[in-house]
Formats: sequence, C-alpha cells, structure tokens
Amino acid sequence: MTHRAQPSPATIAPVVRFAPSPTGRIHIGNARTALVNFFFAKKHGGKFILRFDDTDSERSTEEYALGIEVDLAWLGVIPDAKFRQSDRFAHYGAAARRLREAGRLYPCYETPEELERKRRLQIARGAPPVYDRAALKLTAAERTALEAAGRKPHWRFKLAPEVVRWDDLVRGDSHIDCASLSDPVLAREDGSYLYTLPSVVDDIDSGVTHIIRGEDHVTNTAVQIQLFWALGAEKPPHFAHHNLLTGADGQGLSKRTGALSIAGLREAGVEPLAVAALAALTGSSIAVQPVHSLPELAGLFDLSAMSRNSARFDEAELRALSQRVLHGLSYESVRDRLAARDIVGFKAEPLWVCARGNLTRCADILDWWSVVEGDITVVALPDDLRAAALKALPPEPWDETTWAAWTAAIREATGLKGKALFHPLRLALTGREAGPELAKLLPLIGRARALSRMGG
Ligand code: GLU
Repeated sequence: MTHRAQPSPATIAPVVRFAPSPTGRIHIGNARTALVNFFFAKKHGGKFILRFDDTDSERSTEEYALGIEVDLAWLGVIPDAKFRQSDRFAHYGAAARRLREAGRLYPCYETPEELERKRRLQIARGAPPVYDRAALKLTAAERTALEAAGRKPHWRFKLAPEVVRWDDLVRGDSHIDCASLSDPVLAREDGSYLYTLPSVVDDIDSGVTHIIRGEDHVTNTAVQIQLFWALGAEKPPHFAHHNLLTGADGQGLSKRTGALSIAGLREAGVEPLAVAALAALTGSSIAVQPVHSLPELAGLFDLSAMSRNSARFDEAELRALSQRVLHGLSYESVRDRLAARDIVGFKAEPLWVCARGNLTRCADILDWWSVVEGDITVVALPDDLRAAALKALPPEPWDETTWAAWTAAIREATGLKGKALFHPLRLALTGREAGPELAKLLPLIGRARALSRMGG
C-alpha cells in the first residue's frame, strides 16, 4: 500500500524552523540549513523559529546554545521565535501516551548485545537486518518477568507496512517503503527521547509548514510522516532536503571537529555576507556572487535552484569572495563596526571609501586609520626631494586635486617623475609600500601631519 503525504496548502504564510542540537558550535554546513530556512521564510512573509534540540542533556550545553545564537546573529539571521526541547518534556510524554494507547508504541526489552546478535544472524541468512518485532509477541507475564528481573523497556514506534510518498521541494517525488525499516526506537530505557518524537511533536505544536533540512535526514522522513499521521496531523508539513556541503576534500563537515565553524570564520575576519552567500548559493544553479546585504542575498536565493549533487565548499573561494564583498560594502553598512573600533568623525566615511578596496579583512582599516589619524613610523625622504616637497606643499584647504598640484610642482623643481617621485612620497607620508590613492589619502592626512612626517 502507498500513502502519500498531502501537505497543507502552500498559500498560507510558511512557518519554518532551524533545529540544531547545542552540542557544539555550528559550521558553515549548519549555517546553510539556517539560511535556507530564513530566506524561505523572508521570501514568503513567513516565520522562522530557532529550536534547540537539547533532549540529550549529557552533551547539550547552555554555552553552545548561546554561541549558536551569536553565530546566527553575526550572519544576520534573527529568529522570530525560539524555544528549547528540554522545556517541553511533558508534551513528549503526552504524545508517547497517545501512541501507546493507539497501539503504536510498544515496549522492547532486548539488550544492545541481543539486538546485535539478531542482526548478525539475519545478515548471515541473507535477510535484511530489520527488527523482528519479537517484543510484540511477549505475553503480559513475560513482560512482568523481564521487569521483575530488572529489565527496563525502550519503546519502538510500530510502523505501518506501507510505502510513504512525499513531494520533496528539492528532490521531487520521493518515497520510502516502511516495510523495509525497523520500527524506530522513540524512547530509551532511561525514559529519555531520541530526536524523532520530540521533533514531530514540536513541528505539530509550532505549526511548522515546511521542514527544510539537510539530505542526511531523508531517511527519517517516512517515519516522521507516519508519526505526524499517528499523532493526528493529517496534513504533515512540506519537506525539502537540500544537498550537504562537503569540505574541499569531499568529506562531510563535522560540528565536533570545529571544521569551518562560524565562530572560527568570524575570528579569521571573514565577512559574514561572504559566508552567507557561499553557504546559501554553493551547489545551486545561482552563481555564487558578492552581495551587499542579506536582503539582496535573500532575493537571489531560490530553494528550487538547489541541486541534488553534493556541494563542495572551497575555503580559497570563501576568502576571495570575502574580499570582493568587503570591497563593495558601503560606509552605512560598516559604520557600526568602524565605530566599535573608534573610527568615527568626519574622516571615517571618506577613509572607508578610499581604503576599502585595499583591505583583506575589515579590521585592516585600523591600519589606514592610524595613517590618517595616528602616529606611525615613516621612511625619510632623500634630502633634495624633502626640501622640494616641503617648499611646494600647498596651503590648506586641501581636496583631491591637491596631490596632483603638489607633485607637479615637485617634479618641476627636481626633475623626478613617475615611481621615482611617488614611491618615496608614499613611504614618507604613509610608511607603507602600497595603499589607497594618495590623492584621496593626502587630504585626510592633512597638512600638519604631512609636514611633521616629512620632518618639516
Ligand atoms: N536536531 C536535528 C539536527 O540537527 C534537526 C533535524 C531536523 O531539522 O529535523 O540534525
């Protein structure tokens, strides 16, 4: 028998969720899931929920949860609502009771060793290693005896032996034959829940309309759809499973190793918009490109443009993109970041505009700030050039034509031109071999500072 998921109509405003377990900081692959959900919600005037899947109390921490929020905020992803599963155990208990009463959740007493032995036997016989439902055949007396002997049950969801179909918004028409699956364990011996039941209960209670997540969850989907049905949600959400990012080596990214963590990229000075653009657009038919704002990226993004092939993430590409993003950022968009570094006042904007094209990281602007505002070490001019330069230095007010007028006068006096003239002047004024256009920098350095740097 086949049973197709008939999701709620797409006309209502979508509700989506990003559901990390706070057992580590998020990496760029997790950020991809968050952004894809966030953009989907923004595009359709919907709601984006941040849900912490922290039922594993051993490994989940408050620090990681806070850290994930910080990482998302850095990317510009601000949830409309948030909650944690550890606050909702009563709801999972109620759902489990309901399933039990409907005969869909049953106690099992096998130890891991017993299960492993069964599995090996099945494989040896050439049979699929599917749980044999032996626990369903236990009599009440046998169960009582097992419990009297100290055995505690874990609980399995009794799957209907049918093919479950759904129309995946990325992968298209999809199906899984539940007859070939083991009944999944929903609750452990100690009463704690595995991810499956809490996730479905929360998706129902928070009115989630679209479950958008990595394709590593495709295999969970049929079970979850059956759970939606079993818990009375006749129209389960739409599902979309996006492809996963792999590292340059083709291997998956792991939260535990900290590979390409968002926190690490932030500390390395990578631009958040570059991380977001690469995370969202890699492995889709939309070209990865520098963007100027998150809304611009949200506008480019299209769920249906995501491909089914895995998407290789290249760190060198990220670094190059970060620079291109940085070079295109308006002063408005960095004003707060500059102010946080005390780059304020009337010079802040013109300095940003003239120096941004020379930056590798945003923080490097501090160096150019010290060139126009601070004390720096410079390289002295040769005597003859120095004398001519000091003599020809025009009076203020200065503007972008001052440099040309000044250097023309020095050329006249010394016969020096081209690099022989400009390079020593650059070293004397900025102490740096290269940098932004001196015509723009000179008025920001100002006459008094220029004079003193040249020893005038
Ligand atoms: N906590 C799960 C994960 O991080 C959520 C999966 C889902 O989106 O359903 O993989």
